[in-house]
Amino acid sequence: MASRDPAADLRRIAFLLERANEATYRVKAFRSAAATVAALPPAELSQRTEEGTLAKLPGVGDVTARCITESLSGEEPVYLRRLESTEGTDLVGAAAALREALRGDCHAHSDWSDGGSPIEEMALAAVELGHEYLVLTDHSPRLTVAHGLTAARLRKQLDYIDRLNDALPEGFRILTGIEVDILADGSLDQEDELLARLDVVVGSVHSGLRDESPKMTRRMLAAIANPHLDILGHLTGRKVSAAGEGDQAHRRARTRPPSTFDLEKVLAACVEHDKAVEINSRPDRLDPPKRMLTVAVEAGCLFSIDTDAHAPGQLDWQRFGCERAALCGVPVDRVVNTWTTDRLLAWTAGHSPAE
Ligand SMILES: [Zn+2]
Ligand SMILES: [Zn+2]
Repeated sequence: MASRDPAADLRRIAFLLERANEATYRVKAFRSAAATVAALPPAELSQRTEEGTLAKLPGVGDVTARCITESLSGEEPVYLRRLESTEGTDLVGAAAALREALRGDCHAHSDWSDGGSPIEEMALAAVELGHEYLVLTDHSPRLTVAHGLTAARLRKQLDYIDRLNDALPEGFRILTGIEVDILADGSLDQEDELLARLDVVVGSVHSGLRDESPKMTRRMLAAIANPHLDILGHLTGRKVSAAGEGDQAHRRARTRPPSTFDLEKVLAACVEHDKAVEINSRPDRLDPPKRMLTVAVEAGCLFSIDTDAHAPGQLDWQRFGCERAALCGVPVDRVVNTWTTDRLLAWTAGHSPAE
């Protein structure tokens, strides 16, 4: 039998585990092993397989060594076969049409902030999903728990993305972005000059989520009116479950009710300022709740169906957002990430004040 590509098989396993919402650290073994294998000369790899010394390589353990051996012998690794056989069902009807129409993802994190993987690996997974672009939206400085990027680090990231884009496949690009904190007074947590340079700005509330409605409403309205903001991230901040964690008690303890604010005013402001409401696809968020999403459709809002991925496999979570959007009657042409890249960029640029 012709041998398979062991690094590709290991990456596929990691992707499927991440998509199944396994904790990133549990998936790490497969991504590290893939990186080690990819960097190794093929001759050394086959020699080590024959000698049974694969597990002596850095980042390779017994389980990953077995996968590599199976791949090289031309056999689909048992571990991978098991994961593939438990894959989810296909989307149908309007949800499938929406997913089909999506050209990219406007909310994703790398290991520059609190994501688990380098930008390159996020980009390659996006390419494999058929995306035309991925907006990289690492956190802003005040979110220290998530290693938010200072202005200096963000500048460095922008240079890095510039170089990386030259090396990525034709027809795909990383768009620059940020998930900027909406501060207590509604201002955005990054320098204006930098926000103006970014392709897409997602603004989210991460603190004071239990504030009273009038205060939260004022804060959100100020952010929506800010010309730099393009997409309002996870509208209510609710958590419906804890990601990647086992026991039920722990899961319950980590849930969070939606924040309270004047929904109609907030949605009307989004329409007035031509900003999009994010449909956050994370299984632990599913934000906005369906009743609010329906109101947003009726209000005439634009939407962005995003994953908020913190690992490559999570980029496939758009299906959850599409299912909810279809249930709530979101029209395809009101979803900004079904637009061409040029149209998307013209729309975000249109929010900034004329120079
Ligand atoms: Zn967020
Ligand atoms: Zn995020």
